[in-house]
Amino acid sequence: MSDDRQVLLKALEFHGHRCWASVAGVRAGLAALRELRVARSGGRQLHGFVEIGEDHGGMCFGDGVQYATGCTLGKGNLEKTPYGKLPEIMGFVPCAACGELTARAYLRVLGEKHLCIPCSGYER
Ligand SMILES: [Zn+2]
Ligand SMILES: [Zn+2]
Repeated sequence: MSDDRQVLLKALEFHGHRCWASVAGVRAGLAALRELRVARSGGRQLHGFVEIGEDHGGMCFGDGVQYATGCTLGKGNLEKTPYGKLPEIMGFVPCAACGELTARAYLRVLGEKHLCIPCSGYER
């Protein structure tokens, strides 16, 4: 069994049920580790941000990211920003103000500009 599959199965056991969002979180976490060329850490060497809200899918996504990366709310090296978005699993568009890649569903349109939630001034 591949290491990634092992991580996925353990993450689902940790999460408590099988759902698309926790699997997406694991995949996003593993992709982040690969992209950054770092290994999962049991310590505080890594620091993660998840831009999820309180919704069921978002929280499940966060569990997947936590398990895959070792960045956890408990250790304080995972921060949850309340934007309610799952940017890794949807199409990206750069914010016209800050350049952050933002999921299409969570872009805000102000005049001619497509903006991320913080730059738009909206709360969500
Ligand atoms: Zn779930
Ligand atoms: Zn922005």
